[in-house]
Amino acid sequence: MFAKLKNFILKDLTGENEAARVAFIVRINSLLMCSYFIMWIIGFSYEGRWRNVVSCGLCLYAFGTAVWLTYRNKVKAARYIYNAVLVCWMTAFVMQWGWDCGIQHFVFVLLALIFVSSYTSDSVKFLGCLVIFALRMFLYIWQIIYDPFEILSDRITYIFQMFNIVYIFTSMIIVLYFFTRDKMATEAKLARYNQKLRAVAGQDPLTKLPNREKIYAYIDEKIRSKTLENGMCVAMGDIDFFKKVNDTYGHDAGDEVLRAVAGVFKEYMVEHGSVARWGGEEFLFIFVNENLDTAGSEVFELLGKVRALPIEWNGETLKITMTFGVADVNIAPGDGDNENVIADNVREAITAADQKLYMGKKGGRNTVMI
Ligand code: GH3
Ligand code: MG
Ligand code: MG
Repeated sequence: MFAKLKNFILKDLTGENEAARVAFIVRINSLLMCSYFIMWIIGFSYEGRWRNVVSCGLCLYAFGTAVWLTYRNKVKAARYIYNAVLVCWMTAFVMQWGWDCGIQHFVFVLLALIFVSSYTSDSVKFLGCLVIFALRMFLYIWQIIYDPFEILSDRITYIFQMFNIVYIFTSMIIVLYFFTRDKMATEAKLARYNQKLRAVAGQDPLTKLPNREKIYAYIDEKIRSKTLENGMCVAMGDIDFFKKVNDTYGHDAGDEVLRAVAGVFKEYMVEHGSVARWGGEEFLFIFVNENLDTAGSEVFELLGKVRALPIEWNGETLKITMTFGVADVNIAPGDGDNENVIADNVREAITAADQKLYMGKKGGRNTVMI
């Protein structure tokens, strides 16, 4: 029962969007005002002040309607009712019982509520502020000029004042707490989403390898780290007769081949540098802090792994080969400090590796050209 009630009140609290959050804040404040008027009704009934009971009953009805509207996705209407009834109540209260009961502080709840919705334009927000300011001034001037209709005893004034303080404070806390809490939650969600987006942006969706942009960023990072005493090498690898795989077994089989070789490359390159999907069935390898001899023999090793890789497809085992071109990046002693020169040299080396790959293809494929 209690859990059900809680769920009912908290409905929309964890909503993804701004509107749900505003709906929740308006709802819970309207509910609070319902309890506020129920208390007045009880108090006035006890005193036999039936006219006051009726006016509080009307306010209760209005706030109850506002609560109901928040469930009907009519938050704007609920806000209008909330603001209008509160303004009427404050004005009537000041005229009836004067200034000392502290009712006028409800203007600050209205003020805070104006800023709850970030969908509202700034000019509308400031206009709202101006109206509330004018109301507060009007009430203040009114009570200077006119005496209240009814002079309350000190004891009753204290009780009214306490009662209003409790409700004004609670309303303010609700508005500020839920507004800031959700803002922070939204920001955290946004940060996580951005992180995910950044990771996906640099990744080839099929093979999950870095793409060109990402590998260039990786190269730049390695150059800046100045840990290339043994140099840097690049290799370009291309699957042989890949078109035939597609034509014979279908595009999905081709995709499976790409995923399978990418898995092998990724695992192998962890210790040596990085590998990216350069495009189609071409892969770029970066050997960090390695000379041409070492990198060359490692590419031979890689070719061996590719040749031995069994790729299962519809009960058949596909076998493939690749052709590689390997080139070293020219890092002359004097260039060590010039990151731009090295970056240019990396691009040159990639072109050289590509040309060697082409020569390998012409020479019959399934080989490494150094
Ligand atoms: P070579 O030995 O000269 O490299 O011959 P090849 O058939 O491998 O080269 P070619 O450039 O003629 O064909 C490459 C094929 O790769 C053509 C294209 O349809 C296919 N391809 C490119 N990207 C993908 C992909 O993401 N998935 C699949 N299944 N095929 C792809
Ligand atoms: Mg090919
Ligand atoms: Mg190709």
